[in-house]
Amino acid sequence: MTRRRLVVVGLLLAAAGAYLALDPGRFLNLDYLKSHWAPIDSWVRAQPLTAALAYFVAYVAITGLSLPGAGVMTLLGGAVFGLAWGFVLVSFASTLGATLAFLSARFVLRDWVQARFGDRLRALDAGIERDGGLYLFTLRLVPVFPFFVINLLMGLTPIRTWTFYWVSQLGMVAGTLVYVNAGTQLATIDTPAGILSPALLASFALLGVFPWLARQAVDLLSARRIQAGWPKPVRFDRNLIVIGGGSAGLVAAYIAAAVRARVTLIEAHRLGGDCLNTGCVPSKALIRSARLLSQIRRARDFGIRSAQAEFSFGEVMERVRGVIAAIEPHDSVERYTSLGVEVVEGTARVVSPWVVEVTGRDGARHRLSARSVVIAAGARPHVPAIPGIDEVGYLTSESVWDLRELPARLLVLGGGPIGCELAQTFARLGATVTQVESAAQLLPREDPEVSDLVVGRFRSEGITVLLEHRASAFVVENGEKLLLAEHHGSEQRIRFDALLVAVGRVANLAGYGLEELGIGGDRRIETNEFLQTRHPNIYAAGDVVGPYQFTHVAAHQAWTAAVNALFSPFRRFRVDYSVIPWATFVDPEVARVGINEREARERGIAYEQTTYRLDDLDRAIADGEAHGFVRVLTVPGKDRILGATIVGEHAGELIAEFVLAMRHGLGLNRILGTIHVYPTFAEASRYVAGNWKRAHAPQRVLAWVERFHSWRRR
Ligand SMILES: Cc1cc2nc3c(=O)[nH]c(=O)nc-3n(C[C@H](O)[C@H](O)[C@H](O)COP(=O)(O)OP(=O)(O)OC[C@H]3O[C@@H](n4cnc5c(N)ncnc54)[C@H](O)[C@@H]3O)c2cc1C
Repeated sequence: MTRRRLVVVGLLLAAAGAYLALDPGRFLNLDYLKSHWAPIDSWVRAQPLTAALAYFVAYVAITGLSLPGAGVMTLLGGAVFGLAWGFVLVSFASTLGATLAFLSARFVLRDWVQARFGDRLRALDAGIERDGGLYLFTLRLVPVFPFFVINLLMGLTPIRTWTFYWVSQLGMVAGTLVYVNAGTQLATIDTPAGILSPALLASFALLGVFPWLARQAVDLLSARRIQAGWPKPVRFDRNLIVIGGGSAGLVAAYIAAAVRARVTLIEAHRLGGDCLNTGCVPSKALIRSARLLSQIRRARDFGIRSAQAEFSFGEVMERVRGVIAAIEPHDSVERYTSLGVEVVEGTARVVSPWVVEVTGRDGARHRLSARSVVIAAGARPHVPAIPGIDEVGYLTSESVWDLRELPARLLVLGGGPIGCELAQTFARLGATVTQVESAAQLLPREDPEVSDLVVGRFRSEGITVLLEHRASAFVVENGEKLLLAEHHGSEQRIRFDALLVAVGRVANLAGYGLEELGIGGDRRIETNEFLQTRHPNIYAAGDVVGPYQFTHVAAHQAWTAAVNALFSPFRRFRVDYSVIPWATFVDPEVARVGINEREARERGIAYEQTTYRLDDLDRAIADGEAHGFVRVLTVPGKDRILGATIVGEHAGELIAEFVLAMRHGLGLNRILGTIHVYPTFAEASRYVAGNWKRAHAPQRVLAWVERFHSWRRR
């Protein structure tokens, strides 16, 4: 705790101590006020201004320090100053005092609460930032919630001080009026609580609900206003139309069909989208071939004197095509039709919030209507506007699969997951690979130590990794392609035969009606937490929304969007990004769930870090893969997992244990108490939990246990 905080805490404690010692509570009760009414009244009449000021200061002090007595003080205000002046004094004094209490709680406790529980409170904080005023207003109106608790708790949330002030002042008007008015009849009151009859309480509750009803009405009206330019069909042909048959669209359509809704899925190219055709599946198939080659090259590491591989790049790429063909039936028109989805092959265009026009592959157009639409149109590779890029020509993650000849010198632009996976794969297949990244590390989302391991392996495999190199232009000189890159003020010239651009992916936003409906943002469709766009019946899921562009996230979003589209307003779900895992399938694999050190520092989350190095693991040693680590971030002093990063063999599989643990609130003690098969890589999760346990061994208890054992030896 900082010195300033200590001073504030000291002052608050001193004030509370003084209150206890002086016990002003003996004056702040109805019996005392009634029995001493005559002298109080005559003093106030003699010195009205002094009395008002003294009353105001006392009221602010009591509420500001969260001391008991505010109820009686309010009655006294009515009794002494009458309804009008009593109301003005109480209204301002109570709001000022509440704000002081709010600020004290914020100053003393907020940082600590955020550091300790920040990750758990994220959803609550987001809700308060969005609707905090409304929540507060309701709490203020319904006087069953103790006001001092509201002040203190609100101080721990991100609500703005000014919002807190004015909403409190407004929200307390009704309650203040009732109490001050009751105070004008002081002689007839027995207890402050008796003022609130059940009928009055019910009226307050109704008043509290009113803002929510008003908000629903405003939402409805604003939806009507947004959609006013488009005629709403009297009846809908379908419950749901899904645009795009990739990972997100397929799941959305499947969910709709499973709950017996009438659903149409429209796909412009190939069902399966990026993941099946140009993303996860082909990349993992190619990685497998490249990995085999790398293992053959390492034959000596496994006691085999010599091993050679003869292969043609074209045949390897044909295998990739074969893998896609083998998986294709999972995402085929036939399968989805049999599941109850109407699959339409053509390009969709949203022409109104309820109507989608499809241009079939034969050019024929027809219109479909639905109560709701899910947009799952995916993303495409971003190609930066670097001078000369069109002249040298480039490959992307979409076109690279058509290669049948291995480029001799491949330049990979970008050090993210896709760039890294393809750089290592092409190098292992025999290309001379140069990878250029403008940041100071590869895989910029991960911790630097992760990047160091990957860069070390890449360089040992012959890849030239150029970090902090900013591509400025492409040129062709004497028939040779060159990248001009800026590196710490000097110009580097990098020669290559083929260029692979992997600098990120941008959402497909243009050309299918979104602009006309005002849907979209700069780089992705903007939605609320229910995945609704500005048109409440149009939802979006997958890469077109982001922020995580992974197949499993697309599937989760699609489930949320489909369920909300079909059952809202009766039942709806918020999209949940609290536990999102991912893996980059380089060698060594990199997998993560939750936060890493970089994010913990950026977000000011307190953490402890425990590492287990895989060079200690029996199975890793036996397999000749004794490198990498498992690192877990936990809440200080507790076994609750904030995040885990694994670098090494099978990292993408091993992370599942931490995903499960985080999702279901299981700590490291639970992992430690679970039997794992020997010898496996999975044991690493237990060993990291063991390292944590050793670091938190209760030394005092152990000292006593040692004494116990020595006593038993006697
Ligand atoms: C090389 C590479 C490797 C990857 N590896 C992994 C991985 O290992 N793990 C992982 O989780 N993720 C991986 N991804 C990411 C993953 O592929 C995407 O996150 C996922 O495919 C997103 O699914 P989606 O449904 O949002 O979009 P998409 O799969 O792109 O589907 C969108 C579909 O919409 C269609 N469409 C667009 N506009 C229209 C229209 N107007 N009318 C009709 N149809 C339309 C498109 O034709 C497309 O089929 C990888 C991506 C790439 C490029």
